[in-house]
Amino acid sequence: MLSLARQDLNTLAAAELSRQVQQQGVCRTADDPDAWFPPEPNRSGRESKEAWQARRAAYEQTAERLCGGCPARAACLELALQEEAKLPRTWVHGVQGGKAPWQRQAMLRSRTRHSRAGQAAAGVAS
Ligand code: SF4
Repeated sequence: MLSLARQDLNTLAAAELSRQVQQQGVCRTADDPDAWFPPEPNRSGRESKEAWQARRAAYEQTAERLCGGCPARAACLELALQEEAKLPRTWVHGVQGGKAPWQRQAMLRSRTRHSRAGQAAAGVAS
């Protein structure tokens, strides 16, 4: 099986990432593909923060369980990050690459911060 470092994945074209996901993704042949779209734990007005966080943690555990053994997990996560970087948050749903939507959004924010910091550093150095 092809094993790629995260830096390598970042540079793979979306078409290649998509090919890996289509060929190897466990959810593609699952009996219940809707399982990868569990109800999102949106916070209701009267719910305590602790209860809401517990529901988010349960969702994250479900994501880990669903994707834990998938050989396309790294490619799937990278593909999701590349695609979701172009979308509004309200369009991002479901489990991808073993992560919940808000986890992927946090990863994207971190990636953006690192990219800007790298660009700033390069500007200072030049
Ligand atoms: S990592 Fe999860 S969502 Fe992605 S292809 Fe594999 S099983 Fe499907």
